[in-house]
Amino acid sequence: MSNRSITLDDRLYEYMLSVSLRESPLLKQLRQETAGMVGAQMQIAPEQGQFMAMLIKLTGARRALEIGTYSGYSALVCALALPEDGELITIDTSVEAPAVGRRYWEEAGLGDRVDFRNGFGADVLAELIDEGQQGTFDFVFIDADKTGYENYYELCLYLLKPGGLMLLDNVFWDGRVAQPENQEEETCAIRALNSKVHADPRVDMTLVPVGDGLTMVRKLA
Ligand code: CA
Repeated sequence: MSNRSITLDDRLYEYMLSVSLRESPLLKQLRQETAGMVGAQMQIAPEQGQFMAMLIKLTGARRALEIGTYSGYSALVCALALPEDGELITIDTSVEAPAVGRRYWEEAGLGDRVDFRNGFGADVLAELIDEGQQGTFDFVFIDADKTGYENYYELCLYLLKPGGLMLLDNVFWDGRVAQPENQEEETCAIRALNSKVHADPRVDMTLVPVGDGLTMVRKLA
């Protein structure tokens, strides 16, 4: 027994999945298709998807925003968890990988619930602000280029409703954040943002060691 988070070795990880994972056949199929794609490591772990779906349902989120669509696994997770009148805007610089996801959103009958926007995250977020959508989102998932995170964090904080939830993915950056000798640009960017969020009086926050580290941020009123 320990009073710190336990290390998940392979056996314990497999056990955890065996007694908890409830991945729908469509999500599983998309995950398997993604495994053969370039950048497959960018897809979130299935248990992380299930955790995010739980958060969406617990918070009753209706309007969701995602930066970094990739092949659409997390978008499908969100779309499935949102209520019938829910909507997800998902942003990516690529059109090819999100086109894979689109097939699945449509097969799930959720094509209308997912609004894919092609472009740079910062540009599309600025457009949403121009459209007057600040303070209207219940849920945000940031999972895109790491050097852009700080900018996305600020823009998304503005777009979130008070009490809204923002998730930041890959905050462990495969453990590199805790290796001081690692001074790569992306590692430094995530490290700096982790420290900033920790000290940010505008939010409640907690870092959950699921997947590659997931920071949960709740915007204060
Ligand atoms: Ca990620």
